[in-house]
Amino acid sequence: MSIAQLFETKSTVFSFEVFPPKRTSPIETIYSTLDELQELHPDFISVTYGAGGNLADNSTCEIASIIKNHYHIEPLAHLTCVNSTEQEIKEVLGRLKQNGIENILALRGDISPDRPPKTDFAHASDLISFIKKQGGFHVSGACYPEGHIECDSLVDDVLHLRQKVDAGAEHLVSQLFFDNDSFYRFVERARIAGIQVPIEAGIMPVVNKKQIERMVSLCGASLPPKFTKVMSRYEHNPQALRDAGIAYAIDQIVDLVSNNVQGIHLYTMNNPYVARRISESVSSLLRA
Ligand code: FAD
Repeated sequence: MSIAQLFETKSTVFSFEVFPPKRTSPIETIYSTLDELQELHPDFISVTYGAGGNLADNSTCEIASIIKNHYHIEPLAHLTCVNSTEQEIKEVLGRLKQNGIENILALRGDISPDRPPKTDFAHASDLISFIKKQGGFHVSGACYPEGHIECDSLVDDVLHLRQKVDAGAEHLVSQLFFDNDSFYRFVERARIAGIQVPIEAGIMPVVNKKQIERMVSLCGASLPPKFTKVMSRYEHNPQALRDAGIAYAIDQIVDLVSNNVQGIHLYTMNNPYVARRISESVSSLLRA
C-alpha cells in the first residue's frame, strides 16, 4: 500500500521512525522495540539508512522486511544516494523489491568531508526520478520547515522541494522542529509553490541534554525560548528533563493536530517508553 494513500482515509496519520541497531548488536535486538511499538498501532514505521550509505549494510531492508512480514505494518525504507552509483542503487532496489517493500523515503544523504560524493546522483530529486524510472515503488521525500542547512534561502529550498515532488515524491516527512509556527509558515510556502502532497510533521521528543546539542548542531533547528527555558530548568535532573521533553512533544502535537496537520512522524530514537507515553496522551485526538 502506498503511504500517500493512508492520508486519504485518516484525518491525522501517525507514524514512527526507528533506526537499525548498532553494528555490534545483532539485528534481532530490534524485535523488543518493535514488539512495543506495534502495540501503539502506528500507520507506518520508517527505518533509517546508515549514515554514509554503506551498501554492505543490509539492515534497513532487513528491518523493513520484519516490519512488513512479521508485524504486518507498512514500512517506509529510507535510502540515500550521495555515496552510491546507479548500479549500486539498482542492487538495493532489487533487494527491497524481493522483500516486498513498496515505499521508499528517497534522500540525498549528508556529504561527509572525509568521503567525496559519487557523481551519479547530485540531489534527492535525481534519486526519486531514478526510482520512478525503475518502477514498482512509491516514493516519499524529506522537507525542512526552517530550510535545509546548506540552502541560502527558504524560497530556493521550497523550489527544490517542488522539484522532488515533480520527480515523483508522493508524500513528505519534515525535519524535526521545536517551533510549530515555523512548520505552519513552511506548509504555507509549500502550498503557494504548488506542492499538494501530504506533509507530515517530524516530532523529536528530546529526552536528554546530549541529544539536544547533537540535534541542533546537525540540523540547525531553532530553539524557541519556551523550549530552552524548560530544558535549562531541568538539565541536571535526567528524569525531570525526560518528562519535560515528553510534555513538550505532546504540547507540540496537540497544537499541530488542532491546526489540522496531515500527519505526525515521531522520531522514536528506538525508545518505546517515550513513544508510548506520547501515543497514549494523544491517541484520542488522532482518532477524533
Ligand atoms: P536534497 O533534497 O537533495 O537537498 C539537499 C540540499 O540541496 C538542500 O539545500 C536543497 O535546497 C539543495 N538542492 C536540492 N535540489 C537542488 C537543485 N536542483 N539545485 C541546487 N540545489 C538543490 N540521512 C541519512 O543518512 N539516513 C537517513 O535515513 C536519513 N533520514 C532522514 C529523514 C528525514 C525525514 C530527514 C528530514 C532527513 C533525513 N536524513 C537522513 C538526512 C538527509 O540525508 C540530509 O538532510 C541531507 O543533507 C539532505 O537530504 P535531502 O534528501 O533532503 O537532499
